[in-house]
Amino acid sequence: MAHSPDPLTALDALADANRIRSRKLAGGVATIIADASGLSDLKQAALGVPGVTEARVAMTASQPGRTIIAVGSGKGGVGKSTVSANLAIALARRGRKVGLIDADVYGPSQPTLLGSSEKVTAKDDQLVPVAAHGLKFLSLGQLVSPGHALAWRGPMATGALARLVEADWGDTELLIVDLPPGTGDVQLSLIQRSRPAGAVIVSTPQDLSLVDATRAIDLFRKMDVPVLGLIENMAGYVCPHCGEESDPFGSGGAEAEAERLGVPFLGRLPLSKFLRAASDAGHPPAAGEGPEADAFARLAETVLAALDTVRR
Ligand code: ADP
Repeated sequence: MAHSPDPLTALDALADANRIRSRKLAGGVATIIADASGLSDLKQAALGVPGVTEARVAMTASQPGRTIIAVGSGKGGVGKSTVSANLAIALARRGRKVGLIDADVYGPSQPTLLGSSEKVTAKDDQLVPVAAHGLKFLSLGQLVSPGHALAWRGPMATGALARLVEADWGDTELLIVDLPPGTGDVQLSLIQRSRPAGAVIVSTPQDLSLVDATRAIDLFRKMDVPVLGLIENMAGYVCPHCGEESDPFGSGGAEAEAERLGVPFLGRLPLSKFLRAASDAGHPPAAGEGPEADAFARLAETVLAALDTVRR
């Protein structure tokens, strides 16, 4: 029987062609088995360098042209999800093609913040993100029925995150990932599998929140993910009745901490009743007009500038 010509010969021209052990094309799906052995040489070589006591080599599959920005915090309730949603919208308003992943296992709140209860669909086993406010998003909250507590641990949470990252993001350029607070499995898995280009850390000006934020910064640094900077949220409150300014959570703490740690300070967002109410109602302020929208627009600009700096 005559063999039909191999439709995947174009792969022979690649530098890694010698790693290909088998390849086939069926029903429009190319399945390639590649030999990844030999990469342990990297580890041995690193261990051979004087002064190195331990070497960690992680394999990542980068998505060409897609930049992942992780948004983390040391503890919960500091406004990380609110900042992620509004930052993503502000970036989209600057003309970027933006995707948002809600990987907060303890409280996936993006469907509420974005005011979208649209169901997620799948195509060829790949999740299809939902559109809202000029961006696309996927949330762990969409994978379970509403009101169902998640708090997934270990492989279940990291497996779900992988499905969200590997969804059909199409031409998305910037993928913002709203991580759970802290430094657990989900953070490690994202760093190892998807290599974020940078991380943004959200903290209140309070000492307690800052101590935890420092731990989050430490994790990203240890894993060689550039920390784009620290955002101080809930800083200062202007009384809507008398106009008097007060600082319920202190003031300037995050900026001072950023300086001490040698990470950029990305900006300050005031404690705002309007922001809280609009967020709860699914109307993200960054999508509208006013001082909150302006603050997020400035933040988006600062984050893009920080991204440029770490890429140079
Ligand atoms: P996290 O993701 O860190 O757990 P959330 O984004 O869910 O925190 O925010 C926790 C609560 O604080 C929400 O009710 C949110 O609307 C409110 N919030 C966040 N940032 C602000 C702010 N700057 N001013 C007022 N309320 C805020």
